[in-house]
Amino acid sequence: MIPIAQPLIGEEEKQAVLEVLGSGMLTQGPRVQAFEEAFAQYCGVKYAVATSSGTTALHVALLAHGLGPGDEVITTPFTFIASANAILYVGARPVFVDIDPVTFNIRPDLVKAAITSHTKAIMPVHLFGLPADMDPILEVAGQYGLAVIEDACQAHGAEYKGKRVGSFGTGCFSFYPTKNITTAEGGMITTNDEEIAEKCRAIRQHGMRKRYYHDELGFNFRMTDVHAAIGLAQLGKLERFNETRIANARYLSEHLQGVVIPAVPEGRRHVFHQYTVRVLDGRRDAVLDGLRERGIGTGAYYPVPVHQQRFYKDMGYDLTLPEAERAAQEVLSLPVHPGLSVADLQTITEAVNELCGDGITFKK
Ligand SMILES: *Cc1c(COP(=O)(O)O)cnc(C)c1O
Repeated sequence: MIPIAQPLIGEEEKQAVLEVLGSGMLTQGPRVQAFEEAFAQYCGVKYAVATSSGTTALHVALLAHGLGPGDEVITTPFTFIASANAILYVGARPVFVDIDPVTFNIRPDLVKAAITSHTKAIMPVHLFGLPADMDPILEVAGQYGLAVIEDACQAHGAEYKGKRVGSFGTGCFSFYPTKNITTAEGGMITTNDEEIAEKCRAIRQHGMRKRYYHDELGFNFRMTDVHAAIGLAQLGKLERFNETRIANARYLSEHLQGVVIPAVPEGRRHVFHQYTVRVLDGRRDAVLDGLRERGIGTGAYYPVPVHQQRFYKDMGYDLTLPEAERAAQEVLSLPVHPGLSVADLQTITEAVNELCGDGITFKK
């Protein structure tokens, strides 16, 4: 079986964890601070605040921006559920607008059309590792005084016009094992705003700025030094991982037949958290099964858009977003991670071409 994702943990990570365990300093300490500083530098921002997951990073970032009941946050329905759930956690309302069928990302013109007097923030998701179209999003945000919270949980190192994601607004990252780098579980908030960074630090630690003085309701969303030690070792490999993902994606795009390959618009660096194709003519589920039978890890990310999930429907969401709904029916992701060999890439290509194309890619 060729897995759809595979964390690459080496001797550096193991050694780093053993050092922390031996130090007696287990939870948030010097490793977390070093990881925050290194990650901020990598993203090209002044501040980074580590959290326990990507989900808690989004939750804390929304709270730090003052989002709460009565507020609306405009976001995409074609994402992992955590993006929208974080908006619910703070008592605000996710407002879903449709996606661009080529990039799978939120459509900025629809964001503008969805603004009301309750809108306080925009949450673009850099889906699959491809940055959302940030210029028009930032323009609308500036015009209406809205916060921009980037869900960059799939896009460590992705770039839009030469700038790394997480540096346009308040960035939120995940280090779940399938992501471009991992800490097992973990998250990070990035920002250039000192006040937002300070608020995030307080909220992640029970609203505590001075020891045992609590000015606001906070949480225990800390990262541990054990996890940060893994993260530091992984961060040193991130560029190599990303370059390998990009090279693997190039190979697949050059060889696949009969599927719609991912687009990379001019001026964007796609870091291929997922390599996602479209299978047309209602054949997606049959191709998913065919790939699994051939030992290839695959998945539909995501089979149901958020606005159509059961509990969102139960909350009264009753809208049609045709492109998100069509994507949910047509997408399929193929392995693209840096653990793949050339033989794996050939196996994947042959299987897809047998199922979707004329099947002759490697025959003489
Ligand atoms: C992974 C992910 C999250 C949540 O991250 P966790 O670390 O799993 O909590 C949020 N948004 C998107 C788009 C993700 O892919």
